[in-house]
Amino acid sequence: MSAESLLHESQALLEGHFQLSSGKHSPRYLQCAVALQHPRIAAALGERIAGAVTDVLGDGPDVVVSPALGGLIIGHEVGRALGVRACFTERVDGSMTMRRGFGLAEGERVLMVEDVITTGLSSRETLAVIRDLGGEPVATASIANRSGKDALDGLPLVSLLQPDFPVWDPEACPLCADGGTAIKPGSRPAA
Ligand code: ZN
Repeated sequence: MSAESLLHESQALLEGHFQLSSGKHSPRYLQCAVALQHPRIAAALGERIAGAVTDVLGDGPDVVVSPALGGLIIGHEVGRALGVRACFTERVDGSMTMRRGFGLAEGERVLMVEDVITTGLSSRETLAVIRDLGGEPVATASIANRSGKDALDGLPLVSLLQPDFPVWDPEACPLCADGGTAIKPGSRPAA
């Protein structure tokens, strides 16, 4: 099953008329956490990312590092699939940092994993933490890549999905023009 089918099956990828957190409207909406709540689907997505990364690198990384919270579950599943440990960075008082007794050995080859990469800001902050700790980032990966690029910070960016969702200002939204009302995804629990 393709990554897109897995996201559809778990209702992480919705079709309709949505108001995004930015206030803009879109006919599609992706919430990776909805898919990752199912361990079987999280594992399947992790295996696909691990396979795609191995194809690109020809050799696995020594460790996976993800920014919390979004990257945590998928990073863990990618680490499981690659047979390497998976640790995470987190934001403390606005700064990305690695805590909880995690550490990197000098020159350890690191794969940075996110759920969705849009601006790449958290990813770049995570890469900076990895380098500060002596790790050597070798690639980045995500379930979905909305950056429109196939590299991040000079590293390969491997993604399962490159969603190209139309996004409109509400006043320019054709679905509103048709008399529809946008809903805020996640504003009520899924059935
Ligand atoms: Zn609309």
